Amino acid sequence: MTETLEQTVPPRLEIRNLVRYYEGRVVVDDVSLQVQAGEVTCLLGPSGCGKSTTLRMIAGVEMQDSGEIHVDGKLICDTVFRVPPERRQIGLMFQDFALFPHLSVADNVSFGLTKGTKDEKRKRVSELLERVSMSHYIDSYPHELSGGEQQRVALARALAPRPRIMLMDEPFSGLDNRLRDGIRDETLSLLKEEDTAVVLVTHEPEEAMRMADRIALMRRGKIVQIGAPYNVYTRPADKGAVSFFSDINVLRSKVNGALAQTPFGAFLAPGVPDGTEVEIVFRPQHLKMDFDRNGQSPDPSPSTGVPVRGVVERARFLGHESLVEFRVDYGDSVLKATVPNVFLPNPGRVMWLTIRRDRCFVFPV
Ligand code: ATP
Repeated sequence: MTETLEQTVPPRLEIRNLVRYYEGRVVVDDVSLQVQAGEVTCLLGPSGCGKSTTLRMIAGVEMQDSGEIHVDGKLICDTVFRVPPERRQIGLMFQDFALFPHLSVADNVSFGLTKGTKDEKRKRVSELLERVSMSHYIDSYPHELSGGEQQRVALARALAPRPRIMLMDEPFSGLDNRLRDGIRDETLSLLKEEDTAVVLVTHEPEEAMRMADRIALMRRGKIVQIGAPYNVYTRPADKGAVSFFSDINVLRSKVNGALAQTPFGAFLAPGVPDGTEVEIVFRPQHLKMDFDRNGQSPDPSPSTGVPVRGVVERARFLGHESLVEFRVDYGDSVLKATVPNVFLPNPGRVMWLTIRRDRCFVFPV
């Protein structure tokens, strides 16, 4: 039998069943993950869910209570054996990274270069500084650089020794919004060029969507879902996975014959036993609004179901879209709709609401 390349090359980084307790409380709970060379995996989740602790265990600055870490198929850490952090060939970039203030940009970047001749080191430093558009600052000192420029130097410094793995903990959160997008994109393309396996910690869904090949969504120490950003967004594992990325609307119902009935029509609930309470969850951009024409409801359609009367409670302009909140006559529900551009109907106005049924998720409560 011939094996494919994929089967024979072990992942650059593999963590298996990592567990970490603090004061008797589990903060990383059976986390397993594989990252290939050249791939960016984001650990995404709310504050305190265990992202940084997971990263620190991979870096080797903190020991797991159980579980294993492998790099290129070799064990580097379990509960008895441990390769020290400096021998793991792992690069680190944190929010509060600090360049050495008394060293020039060139010396900062070459700091971690222990191997190679002087010429080879010089070549590597100038190649990286060019790549991060900082060649002009080669002899400058950190205090002469802006935050964004320092960030670029820090990236060059972390990448200089060609780490096999790069661990980044909220590395862009100290930068202002204008700078952030550009630096994120530059960083990403440099990491790809260097073929580094990246684990990036963030609590910002937008950053994860922008940077990640795969998102590992974490909650209370566990990975609740892992996949390509598109899949995590469009096929969320549970209500929390929907609401982490956007505002949500929720309709409650009870299943009967694999269907959950609502005034908007019935929603499929395959495999859910009769009598189970479910929540039908959807994003505000999938609630559609139609003007009321003399009290006549628009026709139902297979894709959007039955139109339901909604009364505008309030409408706000958010810059690139408008948010309209409706009260509907169903379990005291308030439903939110977003539309591009400016749409600000007056409170009290009646409109007909329908839901993009293919964008709804039905979850047992
Ligand atoms: P944030 O985004 O806020 O950094 P996080 O998801 O990275 O959060 P961690 O920093 O991994 O979360 O922390 C996970 C949990 O472990 C938190 O409840 C935190 O208070 C706790 N914790 C972290 N470090 C320690 C420590 N050294 N001693 C005790 N508890 C700790």
